[in-house]
Amino acid sequence: MAICPFAYWMPVKTKQEQRRQGAEPLGLILHISNSRRNTLAGLLATFSPGGSNPFPSHFGVQTDGKLGQFIDTKYHDWAEEWSTKYISIECAASPGDSLTVQQLYTVATLYAWLYEEHSVTFDLANKPGDAGLGYHSMEKTGHTSCPGPNVIAQRPSILSIAQVMAFSQTTPSYW
Ligand SMILES: [Zn+2]
Repeated sequence: MAICPFAYWMPVKTKQEQRRQGAEPLGLILHISNSRRNTLAGLLATFSPGGSNPFPSHFGVQTDGKLGQFIDTKYHDWAEEWSTKYISIECAASPGDSLTVQQLYTVATLYAWLYEEHSVTFDLANKPGDAGLGYHSMEKTGHTSCPGPNVIAQRPSILSIAQVMAFSQTTPSYW
């Protein structure tokens, strides 16, 4: 069981399915909220029964860097329709946007924590089954602009920052 200590815990009310025993997540998948309720509370509302998105992610991050967690990492998510083997994060952004600096640092801090908690690797995942930091549209999906080329291009920066945090034993203290 893992709830990130620097995330606001905002559990979804939808049914959760336990991750297969012994299976650690392969990495983290980036999504964008696509202008859909761009606050953590708004994202949670879309994931809740009767909301517009029945496929919640584990995490969400606002443009100001505030991090929320909707699903315990011991459960799989529904955000990548092609796999349940990753952790997922919805970043408040529109198609074509880059992540804000605050979002970039938050995702990197989360990634350093996932390294400590779930032993994710500091690799770029470019297709399903790859370990590391990937993105929704790396497999066929109707969401072809999730998260868009600018966010995809920020992945090396995210990994670099996360590696510094992980290997310098810096306790995430961004908040
Ligand atoms: Zn997505």
